[in-house]
Amino acid sequence: MKFIDVAKYFDNIEKTTKRLEMFDILSNLFKETPNENIDKIIYICQEQIKPPFESLKIDMAEKMLQKSIARATGVSLKKVIELYKNKGDLGLVAEELSKAQKSKLIQPDELTLIDVYDSFLKTAKSSGVGSVDIKISIIAGILGRAKPLEAKYICRFIIGKLRLGVGDPTLMDSLSKAKIGDRSLREKIEKAYNLCSDLGEVAKKLFIEDIESLEKFKITPGKPIRMALAERLSTPEEIIEKIGKCAVEGKYDGFRLQCHKIGKQVKIFSRNLEEISYMFPEIVHSIKKYIKSEKAIIEGEAIVYNEATEELMPFQVTMTRKRKYEIDKKSKELPLKLFIFDLLYINGKDYTEKPLRERIKLMEKNIELGNGLELAERIITENPEEVDRFFENVISRGLEGVLAKRLDAGYSAGGRNYDWIKLKRGYKGDLTDTIDVVIIGYIKGRGARAKFGIGALLAGVYDKKEDSFKSIARIGSGFSEEKWQELKSELDKISLKQKPARIESEIKPDVWVEPKYVIEVAADEITKSPMHTAGRTEKESGYALRFPRAKSFIRVDKKAEDATSVEEIKKMHKMQSDV
Ligand code: ATP
Repeated sequence: MKFIDVAKYFDNIEKTTKRLEMFDILSNLFKETPNENIDKIIYICQEQIKPPFESLKIDMAEKMLQKSIARATGVSLKKVIELYKNKGDLGLVAEELSKAQKSKLIQPDELTLIDVYDSFLKTAKSSGVGSVDIKISIIAGILGRAKPLEAKYICRFIIGKLRLGVGDPTLMDSLSKAKIGDRSLREKIEKAYNLCSDLGEVAKKLFIEDIESLEKFKITPGKPIRMALAERLSTPEEIIEKIGKCAVEGKYDGFRLQCHKIGKQVKIFSRNLEEISYMFPEIVHSIKKYIKSEKAIIEGEAIVYNEATEELMPFQVTMTRKRKYEIDKKSKELPLKLFIFDLLYINGKDYTEKPLRERIKLMEKNIELGNGLELAERIITENPEEVDRFFENVISRGLEGVLAKRLDAGYSAGGRNYDWIKLKRGYKGDLTDTIDVVIIGYIKGRGARAKFGIGALLAGVYDKKEDSFKSIARIGSGFSEEKWQELKSELDKISLKQKPARIESEIKPDVWVEPKYVIEVAADEITKSPMHTAGRTEKESGYALRFPRAKSFIRVDKKAEDATSVEEIKKMHKMQSDV
């Protein structure tokens, strides 16, 4: 496949502001891609080189790319920098300079998708001494052969600003349409994706093999499984009414970790499926030593724990273990304990479809406890009063609440449903549970805050069905002056000239931003409002947050699609009015 054809599709995606059009363009792109290369196109659309959990990054700073552009187009670095100041987009700089240069050539070389992808891969893989020069020259080489439009997208990809604005659900719908002409394969694609977190691999299976091979898809230790999530209810009575006799566990407030043992290796994945094994050497050690099976996958919540006082430390203390430096020192000072709550694979067998009841027995049998590994505290009951007592007990010891789990349910990879139900303090009545919103724009302030150029955020929640972000609140409080400034500078890096296709909002902020950052907000209430698009239908107005205030800075553990969903907002609104 010629790369110029890919670049033309990207150009069309960039031009559209309609989600449905984007879906059509993508499905045509996938149809035209040779089956054996479909994974590469998928990764590029996800702005990755390999599946996200492999964390393979090109790692080229803007300065380095500027040098590649200068070298490829035969102009001075000074000229590239000047143009960049003017255009603010290295993709446009490369496009323009390449136009000027290519007009001198008679027949530019034809680049293929593989040429471009391989150059990305090679660049990402070169590391260590001398790698800066190697990277600059690989990219200069490919840019030297690129047509202007190709150069634009190659450069944007390299610095992580491709910004096609397509989410995984749209990619999956488009794959389905490319394969059979409509979206009906979406569910099967998603199921396989949930089990391996590698949409490239799933697409390849679908296009090279067949639909049945997707249905037979199994988990593989070493590849993260998309995490199961919980619904909310407000009282123990409602929980028992909904799922009957169930396992009720403490809800620990730390890092959710999915740990894979693969022979002598241990890989630990975070809530958003990044591999972070290097951060937690003590957990890696314990899993290697105290889980006897050759291969295993367990899940748990890790918290800093004080052995002497038997106290669980607050989240703020646990959070300090998320670091890049002084890891060994900190792991001795503030060791983590992993409270294991699930087991998905052991002794060569996939247990994701087996009932929780059976997985609990397996956990009890196969994990040698102590040494930083504990089982999450759990009771099995059908008595609401017992749930309540357990709830009060764990709260008094600093836990966040409880999770009730259906005993006969398998592990719902990638799903949020009533197989798991969370109950936190404060669900009983007012809206004290926080909401995770995505920043979709900001409003330049008036009055005191005008000097910072940012006065309020426009925030949205995620509409899963449509793969879009819908407005729910304007947030003007909760940050210190420094944080507002920091936020503005982060948001300016992802600002957009026009509203992207995946955002639906009638309120027009001064600056639109790529839906990327999630913050936690508290509010007094969820109300109905004609101004916001979250949950709005032809007959009914949307939802809004009353008196919203930020409770956290940008959450590093959540992607935009992990924000609270419109469906959840609806349910929270109902819970509120039922009380
Ligand atoms: P929150 O922001 O409330 O942590 P979330 O969106 O990350 O929510 P939920 O589905 O609402 O996820 O709640 C499940 C989360 O609770 C898990 O992601 C995990 O980090 C944490 N957790 C703590 N204890 C348990 C447990 N015993 N079983 C499952 N998850 C637990």
